[in-house]
Amino acid sequence: MTRIYNFSAGPSMLPVEVLEKAASEMLDYNGSGMSVMEMSHRSKVYDGIIKETEAKFRKIMGIPDNYKVLFLQGGATLQFAMVPLNLLTGSGKADYVVSGNFSNNAYKEAQKFGTINLAGTSKADNFAHIPQQDELTLDPEADYVHLCTNNTIYGTTWKYIPETGNVPIVADMSSCILSEPVDVTKYGLIYAGAQKNMGPAGLTVVIIREDLAGKTQPKTPVMLDYKVMIDNDSMYNTPPTYGIYILKLVLEWIEKLGGLSEMEKINRAKAKVLYDFLDESKMFKSTVLERDRSMMNVTFKTGDEALDDKFVKESKAAGFENLKGHRAVGGMRASIYNAMPTEGVVKLVEFMREFEARNS
Ligand SMILES: *Cc1c(COP(=O)(O)O)cnc(C)c1O
Repeated sequence: MTRIYNFSAGPSMLPVEVLEKAASEMLDYNGSGMSVMEMSHRSKVYDGIIKETEAKFRKIMGIPDNYKVLFLQGGATLQFAMVPLNLLTGSGKADYVVSGNFSNNAYKEAQKFGTINLAGTSKADNFAHIPQQDELTLDPEADYVHLCTNNTIYGTTWKYIPETGNVPIVADMSSCILSEPVDVTKYGLIYAGAQKNMGPAGLTVVIIREDLAGKTQPKTPVMLDYKVMIDNDSMYNTPPTYGIYILKLVLEWIEKLGGLSEMEKINRAKAKVLYDFLDESKMFKSTVLERDRSMMNVTFKTGDEALDDKFVKESKAAGFENLKGHRAVGGMRASIYNAMPTEGVVKLVEFMREFEARNS
């Protein structure tokens, strides 16, 4: 068996320990005589799995009691509609900061449901930086401010939480959740698709301050009503049962590493290996402002498209998969989520160093 280093932006690597544990429990979960995939979501044994997943998630993220945790479907993209359907019901106005592709998609989707203000954007420099507080125009009457804390495609991260007064912040954390500690109390709602740092595609996790639910727009489908999902413990219908179980295993893995502060230390050191090389290289350059560099998605270029292509091709042949950058940026992108071992980044840098020597 050979495992390659997979730098995919998502779905992405899962920890080997998690995959091995899932494999060992595949045919018979904990003496139940069946796979988690084959279980009724209403069974006692599955109830134990979902409850334990939520309890571990709450503990690891430090989620206060006045927040609910929901296990939903539809990806982060469905949240682009679910958020306004549920929260855009006071003044009917919301502020959106567009710092990349997904926040732009969220901004466009929300326009179907109310008055959406572009509160700030870094489009002018092709999203190479995060708008700072003095670049934001915030409406104190807004129902919420929406932002995406890590820009998966452009490789930037918010290093500060904007001051929004009493207006709750709604954050898309799809590509950075569980990578470092988060002060949940600073947010009204956090959502994330699972397939970057939490598990397989098909599960979406929502953390919502309880008082924000229950004011849904009248024609909201039942499946898109946070209050319904809260009242039914994410089981109005069948939840993504297997994805929730894999999340449990991922949380156990993080717990064993020492929690999110340890996870952050590992991630920081791992990203530093690559950024330090980019800073010293004469060939490869980071595409974003140093201040706002992402710890999860590292974007870089040689400045020569043919050379970029050659690098992607040769790196693939050498066992480094999915390094081609998104077409919106070009060049390369190394997504180095929690499950990417530091060794993978060290080896990638060795390969880059050698490629540079060979081609200059
Ligand atoms: C991947 C991603 C999305 C889209 O997620 P889906 O689950 O495919 O809908 C949205 N936002 C961010 C920040 C992402 O990284």
